[in-house]
Amino acid sequence: MTSRHLPVLDLAPPAVAPDGPRPAAAAADARVAEFRPVDQALPRFWVWTLGCQMNKSDSEEMAGRLLATGCAEAPGMEAADLIVINTCAIREAAEAKVIGRQGALAALKAANPALRVVLTGCAVRERDRAGLRRRFPAVDLFLRPDEEPELVERLGLASAQGPVGLGSGNGAPNPPGSAVAPRTAATTVVKGVAVSAADHLAGSRADAVASGAVRRESAVAAWLPIIYGCDKTCTYCIVPFSRGPERSRPFDEVVDEARALAAAGYREITLLGQNVNSYGHDLPAEARFAHVAEARRAGRQIDRASRPDLAELIRAIDALRGPDGGLAVPRLRFITSHPWDLSDRLVDAMAEAPSVCAALHLPVQSGDDEVLHRMGRQYSIAHYEERLGRIRGAIPGIAVSTDVIVGFCGETEAQFASTLRLLETIRYEQVFAAAYSPRPGTPATRLPDDVPAAVKKERLNRLLALQEEIGFARNRERLGSVASVLVDTLERPRGHDHAEEGGEPPPPTLAGRDPFAAPLPDGWVRLAGRSRENRLVHLAGPAAIVGSIVDVRIEAVGPYSLRGVLA
Ligand code: SF4
Repeated sequence: MTSRHLPVLDLAPPAVAPDGPRPAAAAADARVAEFRPVDQALPRFWVWTLGCQMNKSDSEEMAGRLLATGCAEAPGMEAADLIVINTCAIREAAEAKVIGRQGALAALKAANPALRVVLTGCAVRERDRAGLRRRFPAVDLFLRPDEEPELVERLGLASAQGPVGLGSGNGAPNPPGSAVAPRTAATTVVKGVAVSAADHLAGSRADAVASGAVRRESAVAAWLPIIYGCDKTCTYCIVPFSRGPERSRPFDEVVDEARALAAAGYREITLLGQNVNSYGHDLPAEARFAHVAEARRAGRQIDRASRPDLAELIRAIDALRGPDGGLAVPRLRFITSHPWDLSDRLVDAMAEAPSVCAALHLPVQSGDDEVLHRMGRQYSIAHYEERLGRIRGAIPGIAVSTDVIVGFCGETEAQFASTLRLLETIRYEQVFAAAYSPRPGTPATRLPDDVPAAVKKERLNRLLALQEEIGFARNRERLGSVASVLVDTLERPRGHDHAEEGGEPPPPTLAGRDPFAAPLPDGWVRLAGRSRENRLVHLAGPAAIVGSIVDVRIEAVGPYSLRGVLA
């Protein structure tokens, strides 16, 4: 573990903002006025977030800290003096997206010499620092994910004070003068490689929440990170090298944040972690958790005795009550789970806690044991199916989604066929699939990337076509049913209706009677939200129901989403 001083990026004051620098407060004693320095115009910032929910949550913190410093948020990249890019490195394409924008960023910098670009997220790994400037020439400052809490300090903005009462991420005003001293990032060594150490992230998160420096994207559904980093050994994955070993947040701090979110009116909370169901194994043992002792069924054994786990956390958040005595958090989700830690305790907690939504994302990655072995996943398909059978037995109708990598090193046609068979057996609601792309520095780069790109593409298309059929069939099973939907989106009106929301390909056909075929009643608009099974549901109704949980009778379905009417 090493710590260090915080080199500061020199920020040239941007041209005076169109609405002019913030007026200096009138001094009580006129003699003092003489010495008041001119306020430096603070940069208008814009955050570009790529990748997973954890990145979205991290971006909410970075934006919150910049707002707490008095910076205004720019409406877009072109209007910003400070651009923060929160990268994803899980696939080559994700990094290529940012590399491809270096020219545009350079042009913006030529037009606005005060513009500064910060790059953070999983593309910034300690051991690759030397190459970063070559790959991202328009970037001024590189921050590893664990260095993000230092953003304000590294920009030299720490001295700037935001208007008091900015408001905590959960709406409560922040105590006057509550500048948050950053907890300094550090690195540790994994397999001889210097990687981020997330030891300080729990503390900086608690500080950000307490001081209101979390700018949440949504007012109805909130991300709540509970564990940082990853201890697993997947050979294709960059995360252990970019985010370091697993570090859980203290149990009570997580429950407190959930309680505060509920008090602020949030209807849904999603607990976050690269391996959310590994929560707690690194926390100190406590007598109050003496009943927690279940051993892992696969993977590396760990000592869980008397340490809180995800099951314990779920039960604690589920037990929170609102002023009416009802569930304080009506909808509780968690992502991303790993088959190693899908324990009986967790399954029972999900089945017994009414706030837990009936949806589970459980990446499998391949349907073949040999491929799983080469991937370093350390479980078998038999184990995976046994766990899934356990949870489907406990929660009938639970929606299951997964991740699959196609064309991993050495994958034969027969091994790929095993993956297709697994999809036909399990019949997932949703599959997020991608072709394997070697990530620099991962153990898999020592294996030959011997599946030709054309074969990877052809297999991926075959898999997606199969899953589209399965997904459509699963959705047809929901025709006529009533879904409980948290309405969180006002859809833009459209002339004609051939494309589904979210850029999905036009559905081959819609099964059922399309509720949007007829003109909408006066005053009604198109809305969308997610069911407890995490299905995307389109509906019509008064805009005032955004933020509410409503019952929707499903009248029509496509392969990727449902359509319905207010029940
Ligand atoms: S579990 Fe595997 S795939 Fe997931 S973040 Fe960890 S190393 Fe990566």
